[in-house]
Amino acid sequence: MRKHYRLIVLGGGAGGISTASRILSKKKDLKDDVLIIEPGDYHYFQPAWPLVGSGEEKLEATRKPTEKVIPKGARWMQAAVENVDPIKREVTADGTVISYDYLIVALGIELNYDAIKGAKEFIGTNSVCTNYLYDYVEYTYESLKNTKTGNIIVTKPRSKIKGGVSAENSLFTMDDFVKQHDRNVDIAFRSGRNEIFEVKKYNDSLISQMEEKHIDYKLNEELIEVKGDEKLAVFKNTQTGETHTAPFEMIVITPPMHGPSVLKNSGLLNEDGWVDVDKHTMMHNKYTTVFSLGDSSSLPTVKMGGAVRKQLPVLVDNLIERMNDQEPSHKYDGRTACPIATEYGELILVEFGYDRVPTETTFLNQADDKKIFYQFKKNMLPIMYWYAMLNGKA
Ligand SMILES: Cc1cc2nc3c(=O)[nH]c(=O)nc-3n(C[C@H](O)[C@H](O)[C@H](O)COP(=O)(O)OP(=O)(O)OC[C@H]3O[C@@H](n4cnc5c(N)ncnc54)[C@H](O)[C@@H]3O)c2cc1C
Repeated sequence: MRKHYRLIVLGGGAGGISTASRILSKKKDLKDDVLIIEPGDYHYFQPAWPLVGSGEEKLEATRKPTEKVIPKGARWMQAAVENVDPIKREVTADGTVISYDYLIVALGIELNYDAIKGAKEFIGTNSVCTNYLYDYVEYTYESLKNTKTGNIIVTKPRSKIKGGVSAENSLFTMDDFVKQHDRNVDIAFRSGRNEIFEVKKYNDSLISQMEEKHIDYKLNEELIEVKGDEKLAVFKNTQTGETHTAPFEMIVITPPMHGPSVLKNSGLLNEDGWVDVDKHTMMHNKYTTVFSLGDSSSLPTVKMGGAVRKQLPVLVDNLIERMNDQEPSHKYDGRTACPIATEYGELILVEFGYDRVPTETTFLNQADDKKIFYQFKKNMLPIMYWYAMLNGKA
């Protein structure tokens, strides 16, 4: 095992693979000098998981063996990073210490099901569902088909999450499913946040969708416990601290999430637990040989693959400048994209930047749901992801 690489990439997810591919295609002298450290056997296209949960996509189509996505010219170490020392420029994985000249951190976000008592015990049984775990996404659709009466509760935590609108996707498609099948099932949305969406235009559009569809939605309600056997959910009001219990026939949980705990003592994280980078250059605020993008970074935008797509060319250009002893001059403007299905076949396409002003790429009003946006998400995005983005094309 080699003990030094010019570039080490932590994490072989959307951000890690796409930046490694792009820098290798732009800077040929890095060939065989890029190491990607990633423990997983498989690489996942996570944005398709809500589609699996609504019966619109096959689970197996959402993953490929990791070895198939490692770019030519990069080496893959199948291991979990255990420690990073940015002063010595060393990474420890599998007990081996490897040094680097430059580091990209793309470790993603950590799911914290432990914050909800009973969640780990009951997910996959008693119609307790989540679209955030590959092994349980199909169970969401199975439960939906089996829910003939009663109610479905869809939850969203107060914390930052990846796939920022996946709960709303589930909410609307499930509402459509029960209506299409003429079922006497009520749909409820419980969010730990104090607003539905952070950009007014889309917030207004989502609220009017919920009201038109008679969806019972409540804010500031954080799920804290699932009693799967009794089919009860316990919520805590994030403003008053009061708790209350609600019955459910089916529940779909988005868990609280946080930054990479493995970096806790590395000096790389900010006080909120995210990799502390400049929001425009993506270079670390203290260690100028370290860059970060995607879900593990402190970039203050909604954590989406659509954001990674906009971040990756900027990061790569800045890193190349840094490698040439220049100041990073390229700037990421916070752009992100959040597709929200409002029913089977219709979708709102949210796009905005750091200033929270919509930056829509089509000439259509993207806050209105459209068939073409749904088809784009369902059929075009996977192709763009597997064949363009992972090859470093933004
Ligand atoms: C249910 C769901 C719905 C979503 N919907 C959308 C959508 O509609 N549109 C959209 O754009 N995005 C969506 N996303 C979000 C999107 O998938 C992420 O924002 C994107 O994958 C972020 O890329 P990343 O590289 O930061 O993290 P990831 O792609 O999650 O990659 C992180 C990688 O780090 C690895 N890793 C973790 N710990 C270690 C360690 N200790 N050592 C080494 N490697 C490690 C992991 O194995 C993983 O491969 C959704 C996500 C989910 C789960």
